[in-house]
Amino acid sequence: MVNWEVNKFGGSSVRDAKRLMNVAFLMEKFPSDQRMIVVSAMGKTTSALEDVLETFLDGDDHYLELFEQVRQYHLMVAEQLFQKNDTVFHKIHALFDQTLSFMQHVPVHHHDYIYDQVVVLGELVSSRILSDFLNARGIHNQWLDVRRIITTNNDYRSAKVDLRLSKENLQKALDKYNYSCFVTQGFIGASEEGISTTLGREGSDYSAALFANMLQANKLTFWKDVDGIWSKDPNIFEDAVQLPEVSFREAVEFTYYGAKVLHSKTIQPLADLNIELNVRSFLSPEKIGSKIVHKKENAVTTSLHIMEAQTNDIIATQLETKDYSYIALGSLIEILEQFDRLGINILQVSRSATTLTIVHQNIKGLSEQHWMKNILEDHNLYQSELGHLVSQISTQNISGKVLPFTNFDVQYEGGSIKFQQEVKF
Ligand code: ASP
Ligand code: MG
Repeated sequence: MVNWEVNKFGGSSVRDAKRLMNVAFLMEKFPSDQRMIVVSAMGKTTSALEDVLETFLDGDDHYLELFEQVRQYHLMVAEQLFQKNDTVFHKIHALFDQTLSFMQHVPVHHHDYIYDQVVVLGELVSSRILSDFLNARGIHNQWLDVRRIITTNNDYRSAKVDLRLSKENLQKALDKYNYSCFVTQGFIGASEEGISTTLGREGSDYSAALFANMLQANKLTFWKDVDGIWSKDPNIFEDAVQLPEVSFREAVEFTYYGAKVLHSKTIQPLADLNIELNVRSFLSPEKIGSKIVHKKENAVTTSLHIMEAQTNDIIATQLETKDYSYIALGSLIEILEQFDRLGINILQVSRSATTLTIVHQNIKGLSEQHWMKNILEDHNLYQSELGHLVSQISTQNISGKVLPFTNFDVQYEGGSIKFQQEVKF
């Protein structure tokens, strides 16, 4: 599996006929040897299907009308892209008919199960339309039903992916089809029994990252309606700047602070194999957007050990999640309780998405302590190199909060929080 590139098109990039034409234009403009295109449902289709479902589950027959509106919308888009007698219309009808028949025959059942069987329609139909349209435009591709590839457990609406099985399935599909371009769906998968599942709202970023991982892709590109990652929401903050390059960890931090550019699970499959992620605008493809890459973060030259020799008073210990997941509130509480039980005075705690920084009374050889090792293991954390000593106590203003230390400074660089100290004697 060499030279793969994965391209992900989100809902807004495929919301109507014009945007689908733009996808074809982008794929022609930026050719690639082997390509996997992962697509979301068109525009707000997933939400529209959620409305259908809610009405249906309320026992209100109005659901049929809502459902038919979704069908009509897709047919209308297809009419603008294809000849009247194109086979795509049968495919669209078949998908809608199957879903409707499912709803009409499903016995009283688990809500989340029904949800997944219905909302997958959005991605199935958008990918069908895109695949057939690209083929008509001479971009030869094979449509793949991702439910035969992404195998999950049956936690409906937030199914967990079995990467090993998924990888085997993908290899089989690649062996079967002699194509260099595929179109498939984001957000959805299936259990081993073949029952449809979904990975959580906005999950197609994650799907695309999984494909990039499984294919060991050279790069993954997210085509969005913003030209990359911004330090803050540019619609709200005037001083927001677009960041040409951010690290994997910074990217997770941004998603945590509400820059809704990426799904939170996206980074790990990429960071694992060091796959570059590009976030670009499908509206301004001439802009290069942002790259999310592996970067050495928090590089400090002075080791904890040397600084310990300088002062043995107060220390900032920084813990980070190993798998780029958010630090759970439960972990935070347990860690603080442990410090408290041992009588280690805590002066300040700051928590970001993946990092927990505790400013506390120094104890010798903290990282060697048994209980500390247990904490790290139990909560899937590691103690990052950043362990600064803080010398004297006075008052300083840190991000709007009063912190009782001198020489303890928080610097923002590209959005990531860095603690920096300057020991004065
Ligand atoms: N269509 C799904 C949603 O809107 C998944 C996605 O677009 O990422 O949540
Ligand atoms: Mg979406």
